[in-house]
Amino acid sequence: MNRREFLKYSFVAALGLGFPMLLPSHGQAARLAKPPVRRPALRFTEHEERPATDFLVIHHTGLRVDRDSTVEEIHQFHQKSMKWAGIGYHYLIRKDGTIEQGRPPGLVGAHALGHNTTSVGICLAGNFNLAKPTGAQMASLCQLAAWLCQEYKLNPLKRGVIVGHRDLNDTDCPGKNLYSLLKGVRQSCQEALFFRK
Ligand SMILES: [Zn+2]
Repeated sequence: MNRREFLKYSFVAALGLGFPMLLPSHGQAARLAKPPVRRPALRFTEHEERPATDFLVIHHTGLRVDRDSTVEEIHQFHQKSMKWAGIGYHYLIRKDGTIEQGRPPGLVGAHALGHNTTSVGICLAGNFNLAKPTGAQMASLCQLAAWLCQEYKLNPLKRGVIVGHRDLNDTDCPGKNLYSLLKGVRQSCQEALFFRK
């Protein structure tokens, strides 16, 4: 091996050895990046700060037909027809997986009667009694839920931390086809957070 080859191989070896050292080792804090969130400008008539965040509530829009919705559309409906401060959910996940911000994340939402002061509401666009959520929606839900668990220091596997709306109120929301996937969502969040355990 001449000097040039030696240097080349040393460099490759250094890369090979160095790279794992850049990765978080077990027990070290590795932060999950915040997933991209589209933030439309929405006006709310009230702003009440949420005192605590103990769990995430998963919803579907549950319209008569399975279709996509925008945060602006739901905001208008909740404000004009329901007379709420604005959209009740903190996040909406569109059929293409885009995450949109509804109610500002630090405020009390309007999505699960009796539980709004301690929870974040995440809604997936669609009717999941009629159809299944898209793969892109599920990927975004796992990413968003894992990041929220990190930010609010929640254990996704703990009972009651990632729940369906039907676990709290008399409703079939988020539909049987999404509700049955929540166990997988909890597991996926746990795996995403593994490095900071
Ligand atoms: Zn719901």
